[in-house]
Amino acid sequence: MATVGDTVKRLLRDTPAHVTIMAAAKGAAPEQVREAVEAGIGVIGQNYFSEARRVRPHVPLPAEWHFIGRLRPHDIRVGNLRLFEAIQSIDSLDLARRVDAKCAAMDRAMPVFVEVNSGREPQKAGVYPEAAEALVREIATLSHVRVVGLMTMGPIGDSPNSYRPFFAETRQLYSHIRRLGIPGVTMRHLSMGTSESYETAIEEGATMVRLGATLFGTHHG
Ligand SMILES: *Cc1c(COP(=O)(O)O)cnc(C)c1O
Repeated sequence: MATVGDTVKRLLRDTPAHVTIMAAAKGAAPEQVREAVEAGIGVIGQNYFSEARRVRPHVPLPAEWHFIGRLRPHDIRVGNLRLFEAIQSIDSLDLARRVDAKCAAMDRAMPVFVEVNSGREPQKAGVYPEAAEALVREIATLSHVRVVGLMTMGPIGDSPNSYRPFFAETRQLYSHIRRLGIPGVTMRHLSMGTSESYETAIEEGATMVRLGATLFGTHHG
């Protein structure tokens, strides 16, 4: 079996230079995360604050840690925010305000991605595409939160191609919001695509893909 380091090196070689590969590290052992960073990964994703708190001290290497899990209001505390350089799962003004308030107290600004529910699935996280521009405009008025991009999952599909329309619509939204030139907003990152769908995502304009199973061999349902 290929090691994590081998897989990372192969992916870095085969992926266009403008695309950042995030290691989505839920369930990965600290040694695996360390191996990924040593092989060239610069962004680690975590879904749970408890896991980040446990794993991050064992990965004392230069990397950005991004929160990609479901963000619950009571989790938005200084001790948790300190573990992350960015939050990719902001989907309401209420959550953005809570992050803003804590970051004001910490005297830092938090880069955030607005999560888009590109499949318009009622049970899933993310703002519907038609409401994303308004949300970005509202978040842009906050002083300690900076919108730097969009993130989407897309509905679980049965083939990489099934993701394409959802990634394409999110890409259009990303370009649209970028063209608006909203003060304080930079559309620098379009985070979409997982192990199953990252090649489609790159074809549709992703600048960041989030890979878990492919890197760590972890399986989750
Ligand atoms: C787990 C996870 C991923 C990675 O999915 P894989 O199928 O393991 O590549 C990407 N994004 C989010 C938000 C995740 O929770």
